[in-house]
Amino acid sequence: MSSNSEIEWTDATWNPITGCTKISPGCANCYAETFAERFRGVPNHPYQQGFDLKLWPDRLILPSQWKKPKRIFVNSMSDLFHKDVAEEYILKVFSVMNEVDRHQFQILTKRADRLFALNSKLNWTKNIWMGVSVENADYTSRIDFLRQTNAQVKFLSVEPLLGAIPNLNLKNIDWVIVGGESGHHARPVSEEWIIDIKDQCQAANVRFFFKQWGGRNRKKAGRLLEGRTWDEMP
Ligand code: SF4
Repeated sequence: MSSNSEIEWTDATWNPITGCTKISPGCANCYAETFAERFRGVPNHPYQQGFDLKLWPDRLILPSQWKKPKRIFVNSMSDLFHKDVAEEYILKVFSVMNEVDRHQFQILTKRADRLFALNSKLNWTKNIWMGVSVENADYTSRIDFLRQTNAQVKFLSVEPLLGAIPNLNLKNIDWVIVGGESGHHARPVSEEWIIDIKDQCQAANVRFFFKQWGGRNRKKAGRLLEGRTWDEMP
């Protein structure tokens, strides 16, 4: 984890869990897996165990040590609602977020069914932003699970966008982030798909954030859409 992040929509990352397993097409080129596996077997490296799921209870204290308020992406290297993370541990992560309320915490999951199943046990203080990833129209049911939670700020990460999503139900959704895939094996994104989602957000009065075009050279491809940046936030 790090107190600084290159991710455009957050200030810092906090990983009280690392490692995960793939669950849908958006995971195919998981950057976290690629990064973690690079260090498998390196003695004493935080990713000595590669991308195997691992809990780091000693990291639960970190947000309380960051004095300046930040936007913190929780588990950039894992998925908090992975089936192998004990419910008790998820509740501990929530306790930290509830207590250190000078920070805004951003959680993102593809396990929206488990998120929904645990909803009533979670303390949804307003500094917790809850998001689900949706890569194409086959996974919009994750949004329905999210919508039924008590999270006070709800968002979508539509990244890597892998296909058109023409009929997004944005009711009670506060924020949508869209981005193309980056890296050597990046799958192409269509401008038409992105603009369609932006238009749906505008029609529904939902904030829209365009993260990147992606591709093999993410920095070069940049993040202008229709000649401008889109950095709206809740
Ligand atoms: S859910 Fe996220 S962290 Fe887990 S494998 Fe898929 S992309 Fe990677």
